[in-house]
Amino acid sequence: MNVSVVLFTSDLRLHDHPPLRAALQGSRQVVPLFVRDRAVTGAGFAVPNRLAFLADCLRDLDAGLRERGGRLVVRSGDVVEEVCRVAAEADADEVHLAADASAYAQRREARLRRALEAEGVRLHVHDTVTSAVDPGAVAPASSDHFAVFTPYFGHWSRRGLREVLGAPRKVAVPDGVGSEDLPTRRGLAGLSPDLAAGGETEGRGRLTAWLRSGVAAYEDRHDDLAGDATSRLSPHLHFGTLSPVELVHRARAAGGPGAEAFVRQVAWRDFHRQVLAARPEAASADYRTKHDRWRTERTAGEDIEAWREGRTGYPVVDAAMRQLRREGWMHNRGRLLAASFLTKTLYVDWRVGARHFLDLLVDGDVANNQLNWQWMAGTGTDSRPNRVLNPVTQAKRYDPEGAYVRRWVPELAEVAGPAVHEPWKLRKPDDPAPDYPDPLIELSDGLARFRRARERD
Ligand code: FAD
Repeated sequence: MNVSVVLFTSDLRLHDHPPLRAALQGSRQVVPLFVRDRAVTGAGFAVPNRLAFLADCLRDLDAGLRERGGRLVVRSGDVVEEVCRVAAEADADEVHLAADASAYAQRREARLRRALEAEGVRLHVHDTVTSAVDPGAVAPASSDHFAVFTPYFGHWSRRGLREVLGAPRKVAVPDGVGSEDLPTRRGLAGLSPDLAAGGETEGRGRLTAWLRSGVAAYEDRHDDLAGDATSRLSPHLHFGTLSPVELVHRARAAGGPGAEAFVRQVAWRDFHRQVLAARPEAASADYRTKHDRWRTERTAGEDIEAWREGRTGYPVVDAAMRQLRREGWMHNRGRLLAASFLTKTLYVDWRVGARHFLDLLVDGDVANNQLNWQWMAGTGTDSRPNRVLNPVTQAKRYDPEGAYVRRWVPELAEVAGPAVHEPWKLRKPDDPAPDYPDPLIELSDGLARFRRARERD
């Protein structure tokens, strides 16, 4: 066998990459290809923060390939047409790629298969490399997917994981296959100023540091908003600069309650992926259809704008929303509070919030984002769909000294201690400071509206 093409998609790494390994074993030369797919860039997924992170990832992948004697080929256009074109230019016999469960990826695979067959090129689709356990690999007897996390996690935990593959030593790429210039961050408008750096080198460094000095305290500290004591590996998992299989192996090897709690959280990622694989429509429609009232409810208004901008008058919600804008990332507890506030207290369609998150999150991911939004909105897999998080009590619990709020809401930086969570109590008739908005809504009014709506269902 002579030449293979490896199509990189959400797996922008050299370590633990089964399609690359298989191509290198079976061929003399390999074309590592990334296509800036028109269908994705045109569909609202290509937002500045993720494009910037992607540019970092592609540059790092190219650098890693060059260290091994190769290079990355980057093209833009229709992914199927570009793969066929590159296969023809390289005179390739095979194309390798990893499976992916999304509806889009399934269509891509079917189109690729037809087009390549017509050209006499074989398509090898490998198991997914974007989750630790493939969607569909574990399923209950009575359904095609698990709708509840705990039993899913039991099966997930008992499933053996494949061995981790090392990075290749050498990659030989044929001459004569043209590439576009690698994308850069330059010229991307609207980037979050404190956006994290992307790339496999960065991701591996972060994972090593996390396992050495972060994960042990994860069980106790993961909800500590000010402590920022989570791994921040989510964008690396999203772009596949880290392998989830390797991550789970290494976390388990680290051992201890912190690592166990961390692995459980990574399993949530696979859980959502298997829900979306079985119910692709859950990306935009309510998962529990009987609660599908949100669609026709509020989708616009000044209070939605205030939420987006972090001006709701509830400091912890505002801090979280401002962190999102500044970093393109938000602490999980912040995401829960922001989502509960929008969908339950303000009673807004979850899709409005999910869209805003996808516009900014560097880890913005259809499965994780849409299904976490649905979970919090009560339209998804939460077995307690009526829970409403109170932003004041939650703030006192998860930001007891108020440090998270003071970090992100400078108007309140001078307010000491937990009093920062209820600034309206600080107002005096002759002293209107601090300069911070009044609450957009009384929590009790929001709760009453939500309960009335629930009764109508
Ligand atoms: P850690 O706490 O270190 O966890 C390790 C990894 O486990 C994460 O990187 C992530 O891959 C996975 N994980 C952790 N919590 C969850 C969870 N609740 N659901 C699924 N996977 C999880 N995560 C995304 O990756 N992309 C999204 O677009 C996204 N949108 C969200 C929207 C809402 C409304 C909510 C409530 C949560 C969302 N999450 C999303 C899940 C979670 O908030 C992030 O994965 C997490 O905050 C990332 O930070 P970390 O890497 O430090 O997480």
